[in-house]
Parts: sequence; structure tokens; C-alpha cells
Amino acid sequence: MFNKLIGRFSHDLGIDLGTKNTLVYFADKGIIINEPSVVAINKRTHEILEVGESAKKMIGKTPGHIEAIKPLVDGIISDFEVTEKMLKYFINKVQSENFSLIARPRVVIGIPLDLTEVEKKAVEDAAQSAGARKVFLIEEAMAAAIGARLPVTEATATMMVDIGGGTTEIAVISLGGVVTWKSLKAAGNEFDQNIIDYVREEFNILIGEQLAESIKISIGSAVPLDAPQEIEVRGRDLVTGLPKALMASDKQIREAMSRTVVKIIDNIKTILETTPPELVSDIYERGLYLSGGGALLRGLDKAISAATRIPVKIVDDPLSCVARGTGILLANPELLEKVVLPNGGD
Ligand code: ADP
Ligand code: MG
Repeated sequence: MFNKLIGRFSHDLGIDLGTKNTLVYFADKGIIINEPSVVAINKRTHEILEVGESAKKMIGKTPGHIEAIKPLVDGIISDFEVTEKMLKYFINKVQSENFSLIARPRVVIGIPLDLTEVEKKAVEDAAQSAGARKVFLIEEAMAAAIGARLPVTEATATMMVDIGGGTTEIAVISLGGVVTWKSLKAAGNEFDQNIIDYVREEFNILIGEQLAESIKISIGSAVPLDAPQEIEVRGRDLVTGLPKALMASDKQIREAMSRTVVKIIDNIKTILETTPPELVSDIYERGLYLSGGGALLRGLDKAISAATRIPVKIVDDPLSCVARGTGILLANPELLEKVVLPNGGD
């Protein structure tokens, strides 16, 4: 099965197909694409207008015939055709910029835990029709642990919690496999929605998702900050229908997001409860690792640590960890063979 894997994947790609961001790792060069998972299409002609950052800028601002589509929802492909087009666009871009049009690349791609066979097949098919010769599927939590250079194949537990846009992937890894896990549909997007709901309920102001995300990133936190912070919130007054601005405090934003923080912590605890005791003792000793953009929420590491009494470490550059993991796998066929999911090979 893996005879064809001898040697390095010199023209091959690692892809982190995230709900929020797509990253592409090109062997030897590293991450050369890092763009929001958004595609703008002309609804009349079905033509692609923009992909990535420039498409994201159109969200909420498009005229009737243009639609800015996020083709992944909660880590799952919700719009197959658009996902395929987006992948094709990125793969072509990598190849044309790197003069590697000769061969169709092999692709290592990260997917959420507990996808159904149909959902896995959709990822595989999308990558294949976007130009991949062969697709290897890897759990994102496994790729993140590999990206963080953690000892995933050893007989010791590595606990990864990857908080992305759509899902929080909680996994206890040992001997190259995932032992206990949960893919929770509560992550970065839900924090943004918490803020939208709070501002509507408490201030009667309607704000958009991009503003909610920027409020979260600038003053959001999971535990009290050293110094209080405020941010101006501008939106539409639901009573008058007119624009309105007011100040929101870090305390209010923390309160808004607290139910999602609690949800993530409760699920981490549940996974710890169902993990075999030998592995739990490794986790207490080695700590739990946070990756994904949500790992950057201020104080989330402290909140998790306080609730579980486990040391919590944020991996280096949490947003690119999964993509770096796929890159390490491109260069290491033996490791890939150990951790690839059955559907990925043939
Ligand atoms: P995905 O893998 O689903 O594409 P990412 O790992 O790229 O997701 O993380 C994206 C999420 O991380 C978004 O919800 C984004 O708002 C959030 N995020 C990014 N930076 C920060 C930050 N500094 N503080 C809090 N959340 C952040
Ligand atoms: Mg991710």
C-alpha cells in the first residue's frame, strides 16, 4: 500500500482546510498560502470573482448578484462545488508560482475528528477533482500535535485541544492513534455569535460578524485582564434603525463569551473522565496543548488550567500548527503511514 511513498513528496502539498482559514504547505518551501476560506461568486454566471482575503472583504457588502460563500461549516464541506473551486484555485496558484505544473501533487489534508464516511469522501473527492493525484486524510488534532513536534507515536498521552472557527477538536493521542476524542461544534465562530447576541440583548444594537470577531480579538478574554479595557461598538440601533456607537468593556465581552468557554472546559473534562487512567496521569505530568486560532483568546489557557488542574501550554504559532504538521508528514512517509486514516490511502 505504501510502496509508492518512498522518497520525499517533492511537489506535494499539505493542506489545512479550515472552516475559517485554508493554509497550504508546499514541500521544502513551507506555508505559502494562508487565506480565509471564502469564495466570492457571481450568482448569474457562476463565475468565481475572488478567493481568500479579497473575497472575505466582500462579506456583508455584496450586491444582489454576488455572493461571498464560506464553503465549510463546522469543519464539514457544506458547498462541495465551491470547496473544490477554492482548492483548485489554491493548488493552481502554488503550482504556477513554483513552476511545478508537471505532476499532479499528492496531498495530505487535515479533517475534523468523527467525520462520517460520506463527509470524508467529500474531502477526498474535492481535493482530487481540484487536481490532487492522491489524497491522505489526517485528523487535524493529530496534524496539530505533529506540527507542535509532540511525541505522538510514543506510549505516552498527548492531549491536544484545537480551537478553530467551527469546531473544537479535543483528542488524547498515544502510539500514533487517537484514543479518546470529541469534535465539539463550539469554537471561534460561536464566540463571535455570543458577542452579537450580547450586544443585541443588552444594548439593542445589531452588529455584523466581522466586527464581533474584531471585538473578540482586541479585548476578548476568558479570565479578568490585568488592566480593564474598552472598545467602541458601532452598529444599528434596533429601536431607531439608525447607526449608534457605544463603549463595551472587557468584562461585558467576557461575560458574553463565558457560556462557550464553559462548554469547551466541560467537554475537556468529559474527555479526561473517559480516558484510561495511565494516559490521564501522563496528561497531568505533561500538560494539555492548545492550538488553533481560539488558543489565542487571552486567558483561555489559564481558565482551562484552573478548571482541570492540568498545566496548559499554547503551541508555537497556533494558527499554522495543523499546516506545519501536514508539512512534516510530507517529509516523513514512515510517520504518515502510522497516522494516516484508512480512507486516505489505497
Ligand atoms: P479553522 O481551522 O477553523 O480555519 P483557525 O485555527 O484558523 O480556524 O482559527 C480561526 C479562529 O481563531 C477564528 O474564530 C478567529 O476569530 C480566532 N482567532 C484568531 N486570532 C485570535 C485571537 N487573537 N484571539 C481570539 N481568537 C482568535
Ligand atoms: Mg483548524
